[in-house]
Amino acid sequence: MYLVFDIFVFIFGAVVGSFLNATVYRVKNKKDFIISRSECESCKHKLSPLDLVPVLSYIFLQGKCRYCKEKISSINFFFEIISGIVFLLYFNFLSFNYLINNSAFVYINILFYLFIICIFLYIGLYDFFYYEISDKLIFYSSILVFIYFLISYYFGYISLYIIINHIVTGIIVAGLFLLIILITKGEGMGGGDMKLVFLMGLILGYPAILYVLFVSFVLGAVIGLILILIKNKTLKSSIPFAPFLSSSIILYIIFSVYLLRLISYLYIR
Ligand SMILES: [Zn+2]
Repeated sequence: MYLVFDIFVFIFGAVVGSFLNATVYRVKNKKDFIISRSECESCKHKLSPLDLVPVLSYIFLQGKCRYCKEKISSINFFFEIISGIVFLLYFNFLSFNYLINNSAFVYINILFYLFIICIFLYIGLYDFFYYEISDKLIFYSSILVFIYFLISYYFGYISLYIIINHIVTGIIVAGLFLLIILITKGEGMGGGDMKLVFLMGLILGYPAILYVLFVSFVLGAVIGLILILIKNKTLKSSIPFAPFLSSSIILYIIFSVYLLRLISYLYIR
């Protein structure tokens, strides 16, 4: 029974990943993302539903466009798999903890964090391809987080003190990033990253933001070093930072219950 659930959740995640992928491409190319059909990026041939099955199409077409035989970016394929795995982990780690406490708020919570995960998958992918973070998306996401806080407050799940903590945390980390940008004169970090960490601070609050930023910097340093070694990239060539920030916050959302338990365990001993 669990296996059926897991397979369903993975497919759901891969489909969402495929949709996010297409949305990134359509937003960048200013196409209507509800009406317009997907097309091949090189020959612009409209793709049939058979070409759009997440994960499987890429394997069956052996990574090539059916019409012009041009290679399709494998990033999209891996992104769909990653999205599937993220959904799988999310539902396996979080929902069972929450479902013990059976109230309407639990479902709002599960949906909210799933939505946040999707937003960060999108932001990470967009920045990876185009070195850009949408101001509008950050703005609307912040509004969404505020609404979530108000609902949580209404249900008595968080106090006013916690809401203030999250807002102040967002402002402080954004301020720290602004300082980094000013000191490094915009090399390495950009204004988009500053707005992104504001949103992350707002979602996570203190001290959670510290773990997530720490993991982002470690991930960024390790991957950056690997790229320098294998791809002859120099320290100067910029690597987008949002994918690392996004990966860390998604990992945190999935594993936070266990992380908090581990930390309290270490401190109590
Ligand atoms: Zn093509």
